Amino acid sequence: MNVRSPVLDMLPARQPPQTPLLARLGLAMRRHRGAILVVQWLVVVFYLLMVTLPAFLPLPPEEAHVLDNLTRFAQFLFWGIWWPGVILSTVVLGRVWCGYFCPEGAMTEAASRFGLNRPVPRWMKWGGWPFAAFLGTTVYGQMVSVYEYPKAVLLVLGGSTVAAVAVGLVWGRGKRVWCKHLCPANGVFRILARLSPWHFRVDREAWARSTEPPRFIQCAPMVHIKAMNGAAECHMCGGCAGHKGAIQLAARSPNAEIARLSRKESGGWEAATLLFGMLGVATGAFQWSASPWLVAAKQALAEWLVEREIFWPLDTGAPWWLLTQYPEVNDAFTWLDGGLILAHIAVYALALGGAAWLGLVLAGRMLGETQGWKRLAMGLTPLAAASVFIGLSLLTTGQLSAEGWRQAWPNDLRLFLLFSAFAWSGWLLWQQTGSQAASHGQRLGSVVFSLVGTLPVLVSWWAMFRIW
Ligand code: SF4
Repeated sequence: MNVRSPVLDMLPARQPPQTPLLARLGLAMRRHRGAILVVQWLVVVFYLLMVTLPAFLPLPPEEAHVLDNLTRFAQFLFWGIWWPGVILSTVVLGRVWCGYFCPEGAMTEAASRFGLNRPVPRWMKWGGWPFAAFLGTTVYGQMVSVYEYPKAVLLVLGGSTVAAVAVGLVWGRGKRVWCKHLCPANGVFRILARLSPWHFRVDREAWARSTEPPRFIQCAPMVHIKAMNGAAECHMCGGCAGHKGAIQLAARSPNAEIARLSRKESGGWEAATLLFGMLGVATGAFQWSASPWLVAAKQALAEWLVEREIFWPLDTGAPWWLLTQYPEVNDAFTWLDGGLILAHIAVYALALGGAAWLGLVLAGRMLGETQGWKRLAMGLTPLAAASVFIGLSLLTTGQLSAEGWRQAWPNDLRLFLLFSAFAWSGWLLWQQTGSQAASHGQRLGSVVFSLVGTLPVLVSWWAMFRIW
């Protein structure tokens, strides 16, 4: 029997041929919510096992491998596959990760069904939380070597999970208050999802025309659905698909959302997350362990301290939850190590983020927009995404090389990806500046200023792969 959905019948007939297929997929997402929940809870169980069990096992011996040691397996899973995969999937699929697989999202939403159901407090709505939380977890993760030690994983990821559940137990009713306001990755996911080539599109005219009675939509991330005009906030759950015959999963150009971003839609915190977080702090965090400058600075400072008989900065007495302390495997940070890593990350944040910001400010001024840098910053999304992905992919190949898989070509591929993303950002900025520029010269000048500001990012990766 051929059963057609009445919602599908309401979709505009003028859509290109591929759109109904996507629209059907969107409706299927809504219909198969039960199957999605099963997947979510399987991920939750697996995640909890991988986060907790290795923390209670002895550290793996040198000769341990991914396939014969649980700690190594979990380490490879989290940092070698999970995080690079999540970044890539958010660019390619939107926030499907958040909606379908994120264990914290599933747990905070479930907790909020049984908790106190309080309204979201004002302090939590502060727009700077995603920026502050991203910076805090990235820097703290470096201090405790979260990529390498299971106790640090339990502290950072497990701590975040406990906080997500606690927020769910107090605030919201069946909502993801944690994800919307406090999740450390939310700011980055919002930025990356704007490049997604598919999204749930709202046809406002169809919405206004519709005589369909309104139905309750359980939108866990609390998106204002009628006003939704992009993929930044949507977790792609499909819950609103087909509503009033006006919402459907649809394809779009990856540039579409950012190219038409208005001044009003371009937040300063989001721009700061991209410039100082993704391009600055994250790059500094990925590169400090390979930096010969850091080694030289450490040596010079250590000599200076010893000459003056100041020895406490060279002590390794800090607790493991503050600074990496694993003397049994010959890995213990001194106070000097911790201070220098912080300084390295701060210098990168200010130098790389600051240069990119300055370039955008000049570009914005050229277009006659004093706050234009916030909007133009989103044009650097492809570059920021590539930079973060490259940094995370170092963890993948680092772990694979410990397994005996050593190849030179990944660095060539990384540089190719980086320069391609740089070119993509240029193209995106060109589209963004089209409506503001009075002439081609002005338009070209603003794009050039925007890109020149990011050259330190390119130089830093080039130095890491070709010089250090
Ligand atoms: S707007 Fe909300 S309900 Fe609609 S697909 Fe996105 S997350 Fe789901």
